[in-house]
Amino acid sequence: MKWTNEEVEILKQYYDKASMQELLIILPNRTINQIRDKAHCLKIKRKKKSIQDYKKTFWRKVQIKTKNECWLWKFSKLKGYGTFWCFNKRIRAHRMAYILKYGSISNDLFVLHICDNRSCCNPFHLELGTHEDNMKHMKDRNRAAKGSDNGNSKLTQKQVQQIRNRYNENKIDLAKEYDVSFTTIYKIINNKTRYDDNYKVHNLWATNRKLTKEQVMEIRQSNEKQSINEKQSILAKKFNVDPAIISSCRLNKTYKDIME
Ligand SMILES: [Zn+2]
Repeated sequence: MKWTNEEVEILKQYYDKASMQELLIILPNRTINQIRDKAHCLKIKRKKKSIQDYKKTFWRKVQIKTKNECWLWKFSKLKGYGTFWCFNKRIRAHRMAYILKYGSISNDLFVLHICDNRSCCNPFHLELGTHEDNMKHMKDRNRAAKGSDNGNSKLTQKQVQQIRNRYNENKIDLAKEYDVSFTTIYKIINNKTRYDDNYKVHNLWATNRKLTKEQVMEIRQSNEKQSINEKQSILAKKFNVDPAIISSCRLNKTYKDIME
């Protein structure tokens, strides 16, 4: 069936903008192949998608928080890493986050998590590295886990204590100041390292406690409708602490001795 002038006009006007499904609706007498062939004859092309066209869809799948917090991937994951479909290929979500924020990167480079959280897509927690950097990063992580009795440890017991006392400061700045990775700082503050085996968890929280028992209870009870992020920042302001403290308390990562 010959194309009418009207059909040709519609095709010219919308081929570039509409999806194939939409074209089939506005050109009800045509099949996909007919539409493609005609467009080819008329030498009109569909606009090529760029990676930035995925931006909106991508960030909608990320739990966006403050600069210092981890932004978790809300959808499918593989080995702990978020996965995202882009140009019919699966890409790791944190890699995609890096590309969207800082631009394209060569295939042989790694996007590393300075926060050690595989599902995190916060561009401020990501850094570009080579294969060697990736290995170094892993070593650093192991060292942090082993503690200062290990000869390679960079921090003294005193420094560890100083860092713990400064737990509500910017962790990225602390990492720079002490010349260790962000991960190390993060772990020291969250008491996840064995920097000092004699150190008692209870003592740490007893001396550093910012929240009272009543406040802890209030935080843990505050899980209703209001979005968690919003609630977290309100409580952080109310109790004059970092939102991260509210978050870890809410998730029972800290103040473990206070249970309902
Ligand atoms: Zn993170």
